[in-house]
Amino acid sequence: MVKVMSAGWKQAQENFAGGVNSPVRAFRSVGGDPVLMKKGQGAYLWSTDNQKFIDFCMSWGAMLLGHAELKTVQAIQAQAANGTSFGTSTPFETNLAVLIKKAFPDIEKLRFTSSGTEAAMSAIRLARGVTGRDRILKFEGCYHGHADSLLVKAGSGLATFGTPDSAGVPADLARMTATLPYNDSEAVRHFFKNETKIACVIVEPIAGNMGVVPAKPEFLKALRDECSKAGTLLIFDEVISGFRVGYGGAQHLYQIRPDLTILGKIIGGGLPVGAFGGSTKLMEHLSPLGRVYQAGTLSGNPLSMVAGANTLSQLSKIFYKQLNHKAEPFLAQVRLIFKKYRQPALIQSQGSMFTIFLGSEKVENFSDAKKCDTKKFARFFHLMLKNGLYIPPSLFEAYFISQAHTERDLEQALKKLDKAVKAL
Ligand SMILES: *Cc1c(COP(=O)(O)O)cnc(C)c1O
Repeated sequence: MVKVMSAGWKQAQENFAGGVNSPVRAFRSVGGDPVLMKKGQGAYLWSTDNQKFIDFCMSWGAMLLGHAELKTVQAIQAQAANGTSFGTSTPFETNLAVLIKKAFPDIEKLRFTSSGTEAAMSAIRLARGVTGRDRILKFEGCYHGHADSLLVKAGSGLATFGTPDSAGVPADLARMTATLPYNDSEAVRHFFKNETKIACVIVEPIAGNMGVVPAKPEFLKALRDECSKAGTLLIFDEVISGFRVGYGGAQHLYQIRPDLTILGKIIGGGLPVGAFGGSTKLMEHLSPLGRVYQAGTLSGNPLSMVAGANTLSQLSKIFYKQLNHKAEPFLAQVRLIFKKYRQPALIQSQGSMFTIFLGSEKVENFSDAKKCDTKKFARFFHLMLKNGLYIPPSLFEAYFISQAHTERDLEQALKKLDKAVKAL
């Protein structure tokens, strides 16, 4: 890999651990120096050295309407002039809550946080507080932010409960988290035969953090059934899928009702945000009404709230029909390009989110995803960059098409992709 020093990367490395504020940005899995971006507009990003990219990362899915969408920019500007944080309740947070509840009828009450991590952490605390149980179940390859209880990998051999996936996570805490393979209904049923005292199951109902891996309907149904039988709360982490796959998220698509829902990314319109919610009965266990503590200085801050409300007020069933309608023929062409150059690849998608799994035919869980060709992906990523396409710098991520990607943008992207795959 040729190392060209991008403007600013040297300084970034002098100031941040690994040069970054979030690890995947460091390009470790693809090699080479990260590209520093200075501007986004619509479907495009511009780097500090003035290269223009068609963006398929879209801030990890947060930019559903594209970069610097006009109405959102105007709303942020207007609010900024009137103050950005008061540390009080405001009408802006209620506006956004009403828009969320319209799409997610099972959310009767919610709380805003400043990140998805915080929302997931708080939802788990709530589940533990409500049930009086400590142990939780998650799935391999699902990501729910970086709270201690959630940075746990499957225990080896016959051990059911996990070991820390990060230094600094106490082993005693990791032992409270069990991990099972995604999409394995049998493993879920077997697990609940032996375990009755589980506070909650947390799952991405459409996984986006091992690449896009939709849940099998019977898997989510098994989770719902077993949780109901065991008095365990079912938490859907829809931080990505929430306002991405359709109006009402994965829970509407699959017609499965979780006890708690976690949202983030899109609902902040590009500003920091997270949310968790469920029935009034459950949510009223939170302080000040109940005994589960949860708080945040900038939770529900006016800027994130107006940016989010501006995005959500533009969404409807028709919006998603049009967005998905744009994605389908594009992805069909992407598949044809890989076929044309005889590059084995699985293009797995759900609406406007997709992943190109190189060197694979079937990805239903994390161990399938790990069989993909990571070396080839590193080459592919740099060929994409060279041709002006920005995709996430890791094989195990989702790519996103936004409202701002025009048919012309997508046609251009296909031409660039053709060149990249040809050179692969
Ligand atoms: C991004 C993400 C999170 C964490 O959100 P942050 O805002 O990065 O803390 C949690 N769950 C899922 C499914 C995510 O994709």
